[in-house]
Amino acid sequence: MLRITGGTVYDPANQVDGAIRDIAIDGGRIVASVDGGRTIDATGMIVIPGGVDVHTHVAGAALNFARAMTPEIQRQGLPFLHTPERRMGLGGLTPTTFATGYLYAGMGYTTVTEAAVPVLSAKHTHEELRDTPILDKACLLLMANNEIVIDLLEAGEIERAGHVVAWLIWAAKTYGVKAVNPGGVVAWKWGKNARSLGEPVEGYRNVTPAKIIASLAAIVDELGLPHPLHLHCNNLGMPGNVATTLETMRILDGRRAHLAHLQFHAYGGDSWSTMRSEAIAVAEHFNAHPGFTADAGAVLFGPALTITADGPWQHLLHELTGRKWGNIDVENETGCGIVPYVYKRSSLVNAVQWAVGLELLLLIDDPWRIFLTTDHPNGAGFWRYPELVRLLMDADYRRERVKALPAKAQKRIVLADLDREYTLSEIVTITAAGPARALGLPQKGHLGVGADADVAIYERHPDGVALFSSPRYVIKGGEVVVEEGQIRSVVEGREFVVRPAFDARIEEYLRPVFQQLYTMSFDNYPVEADRVHGMQLAACRTSA
Ligand SMILES: [Zn+2]
Repeated sequence: MLRITGGTVYDPANQVDGAIRDIAIDGGRIVASVDGGRTIDATGMIVIPGGVDVHTHVAGAALNFARAMTPEIQRQGLPFLHTPERRMGLGGLTPTTFATGYLYAGMGYTTVTEAAVPVLSAKHTHEELRDTPILDKACLLLMANNEIVIDLLEAGEIERAGHVVAWLIWAAKTYGVKAVNPGGVVAWKWGKNARSLGEPVEGYRNVTPAKIIASLAAIVDELGLPHPLHLHCNNLGMPGNVATTLETMRILDGRRAHLAHLQFHAYGGDSWSTMRSEAIAVAEHFNAHPGFTADAGAVLFGPALTITADGPWQHLLHELTGRKWGNIDVENETGCGIVPYVYKRSSLVNAVQWAVGLELLLLIDDPWRIFLTTDHPNGAGFWRYPELVRLLMDADYRRERVKALPAKAQKRIVLADLDREYTLSEIVTITAAGPARALGLPQKGHLGVGADADVAIYERHPDGVALFSSPRYVIKGGEVVVEEGQIRSVVEGREFVVRPAFDARIEEYLRPVFQQLYTMSFDNYPVEADRVHGMQLAACRTSA
């Protein structure tokens, strides 16, 4: 039992905006009141729900590949933590499991979504997530380049494709569907990409990226998954890709979707030298279509590590920058590319990217639909979220930073014209309440009775910005895990998984396909339920 007294509470899901409230905790949940137990006096402090990251990359084979590729930075970047509870960890831009849990908790985050899991390496992902302490997790299954599914779409067998998708979600013990560069990663196996949404994907006659996007969004809706299709659009990172992004939103035509790292998809111009922000056009369309949510995928100047299933983009980035590059093709499922990168303030392209992430966060008017991310570690390490919070809350500071950009870049962006300043309540919305709602996790992101007792408590900072830099206390599931900036106790997290309904006979279809196409035997493919630590089944709206 625990009582937090006298704090200034920001709980936007329950319309509490800076009110002095006591919070009572019992049995890992928020309750109306408690008798006895410990009391934390939070007088003068800010009390908010634990953060929820809707899109990050923290576990799995791709991360291990990235770690192996960057030995030179592994001793860097563990800014937090000196505690007897600490276990071994490497830093760099892809911290290892224990360090990842401590670093997120050390900011006040308590739930994260691993946004890219191939079924073929899902066992490994779950093993790393199991070793990532404190945090609750969900993971998203890579599905827009799965050749079994795309072959079915080619044959017009949409219903069977739906059963296969549902079977694969459960086989991988995942929570939702991620689409990365639909059709582009299939084409990449022949050294090609899928740049145009209306043209057939390399090797197919009927299947276009548009068809993959529309079909997967429909399947996700029909399966009743708590989180909509999580979409990494085609032409990520390319000048002029605003046309693709707007077309993608039109293809979705009223269907729900979460647009991942929208910053990387809101560029105008037709070459690297003419690249400019199109945040206004993207935000206007987005604002007018309430079925969409998005995360920012903001970039910050400094080192990053780009890591994505978008193989063709990564190869192009390697060619553009000359930086080292790694690539994996994951059999019939997806791909993966790794390129270490540095965002430079002096670069026109990077300066535009830096501005676009902030512009989208400021121009999208509903904080319940745009969420704070850096697409960690693609735009910056997640531990740099406090820098973004400051930029969102302080327009004068933001304008100062714009003045430091190259003059040419300043003409290609609108950031200096934006006066909006986020309130604390809006910051809590884009970091906890909104992501929890978009993920369909009703017990997360708020402090109402019945919610998971995930709470972060911060001192007020003299310049008004306090959140996420060294919380005074972090409580996870009712346990005080961080106190005075140190990990004080380590609890284990859970994993949220869905089990959508599917026809059990779909295995009769899949087994021979497997024997023919995969190097792994069919029976070894699904992740056993007991491999997933603290598995928590989330309800599907239409599950049997
Ligand atoms: Zn990502």
